[in-house]
Amino acid sequence: MFQAAAGLEALDQGFPSAAGTVTTRLAAVAEAGVDLSAFLAARPQAIAGAATDAWLASVLDQLPVAVYITDAQGRLTYFNRATAQFAGREPRIGDDFWCVTHRLLGKDGKPLAPDQYPMAIALREARPVRGVEVQAERPDGSRVPFMPFPTPLFDGTGRLVGGFNLLLDISERKHAERAIAALLRQDAPGGLAADPQLAEQRERQDMLRHLREAIAGGAIRLQYQPQFRTDGEVVGFEALARWRHPTRGVISPSQFIPAAEEGGLIAALGAHVLRSACREAAGWARPLRVSVNISPLEFESDDLPALVEAVLDETGLDPDRLELEITEGVMVTDAARAMAALSKLRALGVRIALDDFGTGYSSLSYLHRFPLTTLKIDRSFVATLGVTLEAAAITRAIIQLGHALGIEVVAEGVETPEQLDFLICEGCDLTQGYLLGRPLDASAYAHLTG
Ligand code: C2E
Ligand code: MG
Ligand code: MG
Repeated sequence: MFQAAAGLEALDQGFPSAAGTVTTRLAAVAEAGVDLSAFLAARPQAIAGAATDAWLASVLDQLPVAVYITDAQGRLTYFNRATAQFAGREPRIGDDFWCVTHRLLGKDGKPLAPDQYPMAIALREARPVRGVEVQAERPDGSRVPFMPFPTPLFDGTGRLVGGFNLLLDISERKHAERAIAALLRQDAPGGLAADPQLAEQRERQDMLRHLREAIAGGAIRLQYQPQFRTDGEVVGFEALARWRHPTRGVISPSQFIPAAEEGGLIAALGAHVLRSACREAAGWARPLRVSVNISPLEFESDDLPALVEAVLDETGLDPDRLELEITEGVMVTDAARAMAALSKLRALGVRIALDDFGTGYSSLSYLHRFPLTTLKIDRSFVATLGVTLEAAAITRAIIQLGHALGIEVVAEGVETPEQLDFLICEGCDLTQGYLLGRPLDASAYAHLTG
């Protein structure tokens, strides 16, 4: 049913400038016969903008479902008209905490302690609270059973900024059952679980929630993979992010980095990785390098050079011991901005490596226009050395090209002695791969770091 109103995702984006679209879409949702309360609970972020957009707030005011928003402390910042009707009184912006009704009672009729209000729990534990039945007591003493659906709201960096609550009147049990089932994501005809697109979206949201917790709780750890000169001397390590998920086991960075990029968490994740890697390397007795992968999205804000400078300052790591690995995507999307950021980073003394070279656009113009110090030959070429003639030709050409431009060349994904021999013969500067050392906890390489 949700597909009936195509493009609803726009609600989650471009807010609040897309306010006009939002009303149209809300109307479409209602017309498509979609349960509005389920819709709101699934996309609270879209509605959260109401707190800052008076015009949209007036639209929300027409909704038949009670919706209110608080700041991170639980102080009321917005409520719609249905909320006032539900509560039987005019809620007080800035004064009401966690709830808008006169008093909250448990299902059994006993008063709830304020810190047990569902919104208080949602904000304290930074998680949505679902399936709790409570009673609202109105000033006139009447009571109404209802289900609150509080959902914490986060900004792009993963910081808790407030809470969104939707109150579902369940006094008309029969009437409410379908809506509750949908909100609880149980199987209900036309409910959220019946919609594969929404099930996928829910999974993504769950993953993002866990990822946000993992970043905040320091559960994203780093492993280190050594890089060697051809004479066998270790030069440094590449830091690779690892996430041990509470139920799904270890999740590959190839999965969670794109999720973090899509979910607005990459800045927080990138800062955590950078800080951890620099701190770790600063503790090594030998002045070895550490390479950190940087997402193209980290270049979208202008903060990257300032962050790097602050982290170097804070950890005391020599700038020339830090290498940032970027991909061609950085240079393709906004070349001028990338150039400005990379120049600032080079001016700090930080090294810049172009990762996965050969897989993307591989435009030669990047190589001399941008201030690169290192080129990393993608492991797909190394893997086919000895298998296809082209791989040898391309690898040889990349090494020569790098050297002609005064850029150091690293081959990644070296798995066999034959590959290593070829790279040594061709004059590749550094090698990295399972043959020489897998990514492991830093402690496993203590004999190399000193
Ligand atoms: P990458 O930067 O190209 O990292 C090299 C990947 O190749 C790593 O995969 C590494 O474990 C793997 N590898 C190393 N040696 C060998 C080998 O001999 N054979 C094979 N088959 N694989 C080898 P990993 O750790 O799964 O990381 C995948 C990608 O995720 C990385 O590719 C990088 O693009 C990204 N990534 C990892 N950590 C971070 C991070 O902290 N931030 C960002 N933005 N991206 C990261
Ligand atoms: Mg890399
Ligand atoms: Mg790579």
